[in-house]
Amino acid sequence: MNYQRSSALFAEAEKVIPGGVNSPVRAFKAVGGTPIFVEKAKGAYLYDADGNKLIDYINSWGPMILGHAHEAVVNAVIEKAKKGTSFGMPTEIETKIAELAVSMVPNIDKIRFVNSGTEACMSAVRLARGYTGKDKIIKFAGCYHGHSDSFLIQAGSGAVTFGSPNSPGVTQGTAKDTLLATYNDLKNVAEVITANKDKISCIILEPVAGNMGCIPPSKGFLEGLRKLCDENNILLIFDEVMTGFRLAAGGAQELFGVKADIVTFGKVIGGGLPVGAFAAREEIMNRLAPVGPVYQAGTLSGNPLAMAAGLAILQELDSNREIFNSIAKKTEYLHKGLEAVLTSEGVKFTINRVGSMISVHFSDKPVTDFDSAAAANNESFKKFFHGMLKEGVYIAPSAFETWFICDALSYDDLDATISACGKVAKTLN
Ligand SMILES: *Cc1c(COP(=O)(O)O)cnc(C)c1O
Repeated sequence: MNYQRSSALFAEAEKVIPGGVNSPVRAFKAVGGTPIFVEKAKGAYLYDADGNKLIDYINSWGPMILGHAHEAVVNAVIEKAKKGTSFGMPTEIETKIAELAVSMVPNIDKIRFVNSGTEACMSAVRLARGYTGKDKIIKFAGCYHGHSDSFLIQAGSGAVTFGSPNSPGVTQGTAKDTLLATYNDLKNVAEVITANKDKISCIILEPVAGNMGCIPPSKGFLEGLRKLCDENNILLIFDEVMTGFRLAAGGAQELFGVKADIVTFGKVIGGGLPVGAFAAREEIMNRLAPVGPVYQAGTLSGNPLAMAAGLAILQELDSNREIFNSIAKKTEYLHKGLEAVLTSEGVKFTINRVGSMISVHFSDKPVTDFDSAAAANNESFKKFFHGMLKEGVYIAPSAFETWFICDALSYDDLDATISACGKVAKTLN
């Protein structure tokens, strides 16, 4: 494939945008090479600036669960735009999408809309602190909750001590309130709680981790966290920015039958426009301004175009819940196919999958947390990524990302992907 025009566009972009991109993973740093510039997309396919057609396994990192440029979403946005694009005043459509979201997701009474997943998680933590009157939070190494200060923390000197900033600009003062724990390790979480008795406001996690590849919660992990939270007066926050409206209509809470106290959303809930949201039972949500004292606001929050796109996609999902099964079945088919060709070529790998989230790690050991994900062979991943790209298949440009399967993918697309993987596998040993 020819990437001349993409390369030229990237060179221009680098002059005026740091690294040429508005979000770092797009720059291909983890796999080498230069990023592909998109011209347009439809259904399961991307068309780049050089006219190449690619099967898309990223789907804008999740939002395009029905495929790109879905008619219902596009039409809803066009019709709304004709009536004005922002007012900074209440509109009826905000209530409509809120009613629908509250009806689809278990265990929430009220929801507030923001502009990104980052904002949703940042606000959820502030609400948890305001509600409990405690400062510290527990997060898990390898879980991503957006780029706000409290989350950009890496493990400190010992697992039970507080973390240290992993980006300049995050203060020690912020870092001391974020405690790091190991995903899928309840014993570790219990130790962190004991060492910080009565100081922890919330535990925040991805109920299925998707930002270190796809890592499912081990059996009993979510239930165990629920119990620890109940015993210690700690709120449990499910960051469902990835899993919400994807793993089931009610997200991970529904799939695993575990209740969270606060849930955050992003990605699918905006149908491809910039939307995030956080939700909880009434007594918690009523602590928010203007009813309660916990401040949170946004000039463009509940923006009519964003709400129109979000409402359109949620209506599609709500009225055809079979979609969740359909994409999970496609993902299982892909899993089996990839497994067969990688095995027959003697490649060492681990595939993790939950619903329509899947990832391939080049390691023959189970991948259950950040350390086991980091131990996989990144050189193989780089070769795999570029090999698949040459075959016309676009997967995440980092081994620490999940692939998202959309309903527009056909079984022919999946077969083409599996056969591309078979070819690429021959180059991996
Ligand atoms: C993408 C993501 C976020 C951040 O959302 P943005 O819209 O990029 O700010 C937060 N949490 C999880 C689990 C995510 O996958």
